[in-house]
Amino acid sequence: MKNVKTMVNDFGAAFFEKLGYLLNPVVLKFKSENKQLLIFYFHGLFESLKQKDLNLLYPQHNMTVEQFVEFIEYFLSHNYRFILPKDLMQGLENDQPYAMITFDDGYFNNMLAIEILNKYQIPAVFFISTKNMVENKSYWWDIIYKFRAKQGISREKIEQEITSLKNFRYNYVDDYILKTFGRDAFTPWSDISRPFNSDEIKQLSSNPYVSFENHTHNHSILINYNREEIKEELSVSNKILFDLTGTLPIAIAFPNGNFNQTVLEATIEEGFRYAFTTEPCQNLFPIENNKFTILSRYMTTTTDIDKFGGACRLGYQPHALYHDLKMHAKSIIKLNK
Ligand SMILES: [Zn+2]
Repeated sequence: MKNVKTMVNDFGAAFFEKLGYLLNPVVLKFKSENKQLLIFYFHGLFESLKQKDLNLLYPQHNMTVEQFVEFIEYFLSHNYRFILPKDLMQGLENDQPYAMITFDDGYFNNMLAIEILNKYQIPAVFFISTKNMVENKSYWWDIIYKFRAKQGISREKIEQEITSLKNFRYNYVDDYILKTFGRDAFTPWSDISRPFNSDEIKQLSSNPYVSFENHTHNHSILINYNREEIKEELSVSNKILFDLTGTLPIAIAFPNGNFNQTVLEATIEEGFRYAFTTEPCQNLFPIENNKFTILSRYMTTTTDIDKFGGACRLGYQPHALYHDLKMHAKSIIKLNK
């Protein structure tokens, strides 16, 4: 049962969302979108809704191919140009808006996206957690989700279990999976949930629409580690990717979007130029092309693209904005007390 507070929050967010969907098209008629870069992150991709219903992947707003095509066509129709991190290094003209597609973790099912990228001739970045790739090891959140869903555990309970594990290092999480579900749990159940393998990464690295970047070796949430350990996570992964692709990564997407000052310093020391977070807002020009830059990303959702896209083009995501406004209101009330 949801408590009253959650219900009020859900209602508030939904109201705010609807209001935005009504107003956004009007505001967009008058707003210039040049001088902004919108970056989006995806995880898994499904062939169909039927495949999604198999519950093999933790539902992180995973899209179908059809929804991915709608997403691309929407932004192309609004004059957005899709780019890669290396384009940022050369500097961008400011006479049109830009977008970037990123996929996190390195799911083999992302092959479905690559077919579409080839067709539309637009690029995307794939942030790879290299240990999963090297060992053909399922992602731990998917393991928990598929076993728990099979046991009939509620989505809310599964999410609590996954969220609490994010406070620990990878070896603790691995141990937990091993003890709870057994050694075989790490073996992928199908192509839907398995990671890319080394040969696939090697082959894809010659595709001009594909760029591979760093997502740590163990999908480590870096705020749980010290400086030397962080550097190790980044350098091991960089070496593996360099050996396969011949290109040294210039960008990292922090697992779970988490970072602190130590993480940033270690990232700079390892030679990265761009760090991708999960802060849901647009990146406004000027975007420096000659120094370390932190970039914000929107999580893609399966909401109708006209609605979802409109909010992103205006620089916000409804739920995140509602949450921020609520926090502001709370702090103002506190100050006036
Ligand atoms: Zn990830």
